[in-house]
Amino acid sequence: MTMFSKILIANRGEIALRVLRACKELGIATVAVHSTADADAMHVRLADESVCIGPPPARDSYLNIPSLLAACEITGADAVHPGYGFLSENARFADILAAHGIAFIGPSPEHIRIMGDKIEAKRTAIQLGIPVVPGSDGAVTSEVEARRIAADIGYPVLIKASAGGGGRGMKVAHTPDDLEIALGTARSEAKAAFGDDAVYIEKYLAKPRHIEIQVLGDGNGDAVHLGERDCSLQRRHQKVWEEALSPALNDSQRQEIGETVAAAMRKLRYSGAGTVEFLYEDGEFYFIEMNTRLQVEHPVTEMITGIDVVNEQIRVASGSPLSMRQSDITFNGHAIECRINAEDPRTFAPSPGRISYFHPPGGLGVRVDSGVYQGYVIPPHYDSLIGKLIVHGRNRVECMMRLRRCLDEFVVDGIRSTIPLFRALVDDPDIANGVYDIHWLENWLGSHA
Ligand code: ADP
Repeated sequence: MTMFSKILIANRGEIALRVLRACKELGIATVAVHSTADADAMHVRLADESVCIGPPPARDSYLNIPSLLAACEITGADAVHPGYGFLSENARFADILAAHGIAFIGPSPEHIRIMGDKIEAKRTAIQLGIPVVPGSDGAVTSEVEARRIAADIGYPVLIKASAGGGGRGMKVAHTPDDLEIALGTARSEAKAAFGDDAVYIEKYLAKPRHIEIQVLGDGNGDAVHLGERDCSLQRRHQKVWEEALSPALNDSQRQEIGETVAAAMRKLRYSGAGTVEFLYEDGEFYFIEMNTRLQVEHPVTEMITGIDVVNEQIRVASGSPLSMRQSDITFNGHAIECRINAEDPRTFAPSPGRISYFHPPGGLGVRVDSGVYQGYVIPPHYDSLIGKLIVHGRNRVECMMRLRRCLDEFVVDGIRSTIPLFRALVDDPDIANGVYDIHWLENWLGSHA
């Protein structure tokens, strides 16, 4: 197969720019798509061509498959990169593109489908030899069944939506008395958010870390892992700060879980980039889900491996092998990413509007992935991520010192941003020592309100 000649990027914001940069470095022409609200966006300015695909609401533009197909046809794009969010885990979109002879830069529709259904994903993980959280074998339909399983695995338990995402449709039951209500609310939340009320039960882990493994597969049975990311610092199950490698793992644990996951991906003949997410407690890993796409936090892995994850995605989708073997991959130093959101740093209320002054930090080991610029008006229609500050150091201490320096330099005026939150976090002793679990940030926010 030959390399693509023109890639349409079906996304916006910092990730559209990220993909665009990889395309340019491969000598591939780029097509940006945008809603009417994004006509002035940086990804539109930097692309070789651009097409307006609809009005501001995402369902009418970035999620509008007929418009995207028309944009491919008009521009002659031979591949689509979906970024993250939007249509990135939509198997039907991948099928439709294939039917039109356009490559989807991502895994097979079959793998997207399996991993998009959490019950099916968990079943597959077990078959592939990946350790999972103890829980129900499939969907739970009655309260009687829920009680039996919960008694079996022990309280507290978590009710989770099979179609879940973004932390929605998840409810904890601490005692048998909580079960009925938790089951009911998880089900109705899942129905409202995803149109599917299937739920399952898992042991609720008290103080785990969230540790995920980045993988790359060639679709022909070769796969490598790029080490882990620690994404334990979360608010409402959403990641806020991510780092690689995890302060909690040693080399042999890293190698063991990495190899388990890579072997599973070889068996699955997985194609492209993916992330297998685990909770980690008392030395044990428990699979929670797999994301079959590029993730927001992929740059921390790129910083410590020197591997361009998007470049590999594009290569593999065009039929080329991976550019490296497992033995070529080494982990160099430490990297941390802070998600800069246009939000109030205390209330987290969205803060769209005009950026009157923008000065990103720079220097050795500093990467800012952002689509904004001075004078840019953040539209209110999309998520509030306006950029990511990613900092590398030869070790975690150097990385933290550099991060503090970068946060001091970073100026975003005219709107509120989460930069002050990160300034406070870098000075916290627990963060300095890398001692935190998935509840740490919410507890900290509660005591700093
Ligand atoms: P989503 O797809 O909605 O993000 P995940 O399954 O990835 O859902 O879980 C998101 C977060 O919820 C995890 O990072 C963790 O903080 C929490 N979580 C999920 N499963 C459990 C569990 N069994 N015990 C404790 N916390 C959990």
